[in-house]
Amino acid sequence: MDKKPTILIVDDEVINLNILADAFKEDYKLLVTKSGAQGLTRALQHDIDLILLDIMLPDMDGFEVCKRLKANEKTRNVPIIFITSKTHSTDEELGLHAGAVDYIGKPFNLPIVIARVETHIALKQKTDLLEEMAMLDGLTHLYNRRKFDMQFAIEYKRALRDGSALSLAMVDIDYFKLYNDHYGHAAGDKALKLVADRLNDSIKRSCDMAARFGGEEFILILPNTDAFGAAEYCQQLIDLFNERQIPHSFSPVAKHLTLSIGGATFKNDKTMSQDAVFEMVDKALYKAKNGGRNRLVWA
Ligand code: GH3
Ligand code: MG
Ligand code: MG
Repeated sequence: MDKKPTILIVDDEVINLNILADAFKEDYKLLVTKSGAQGLTRALQHDIDLILLDIMLPDMDGFEVCKRLKANEKTRNVPIIFITSKTHSTDEELGLHAGAVDYIGKPFNLPIVIARVETHIALKQKTDLLEEMAMLDGLTHLYNRRKFDMQFAIEYKRALRDGSALSLAMVDIDYFKLYNDHYGHAAGDKALKLVADRLNDSIKRSCDMAARFGGEEFILILPNTDAFGAAEYCQQLIDLFNERQIPHSFSPVAKHLTLSIGGATFKNDKTMSQDAVFEMVDKALYKAKNGGRNRLVWA
């Protein structure tokens, strides 16, 4: 079963808080708080699907809470519904301009609140799904090039900041054009999926990432991994394809599908740009290909 969506309720009136909590506790995971500042903290700490936000709060008003949530990368897409006794149309206008998706006056009609919450949560889930799909490769369901570009930029900046090691490796299937030419494109697609699944299965840490870079090329991001560890991991991948063979009778290097991998590690070198790291990886892969394929070259 899908996990329950999470609602954060921020309201300083205990009666309201109780009525709302009672109405939603069955179908949603609930977080409740009576202050604006705490609401902000909770929203940053948890993955929230919708916020019911009062305006008159003891510390900071709801408009301010809303603006801050909308200005934060983590919370900007969380739908906010104001639920307030400030029912003047200018307040409603302010609330909607601050980024809220809806505005409900107090005293509220509970079935209407529930219906609006359901609508906005359904929309949020659809948007989340679309965003996730936009980051996935349609054939292999690995992350796509776009997600790789975003993630690599994040990890590069992190490594630069922390002085941690960041390893990057490009994985290219050997003689895959010959595979397609002889077995057909559909079989080629199947083989690509198999390779992608094995890459995905080989990933052990949640911060590591495998993506389809394009065609029969895949890319691995291994944060906090030094050259020794990353090279060992990549060699194991190459070995795995030599053990659990996928037949490729037309490959000049072996009777099965093999991989060539080029990799590089970035650590504590402020003169080396993100592009330069990538270029090292590319050159290493080129060397692996020229050196006979079915092998790893680490820059
Ligand atoms: P090398 O060992 O030098 O890497 O040779 P190669 O044949 O693997 O490399 P090349 O770049 O010449 O050809 C890559 C082939 O991968 C071309 C194309 O037939 C195949 N390919 C790329 N994307 C797909 C895809 O989505 N599906 C299928 N079936 N084949 C693909
Ligand atoms: Mg290839
Ligand atoms: Mg290629």
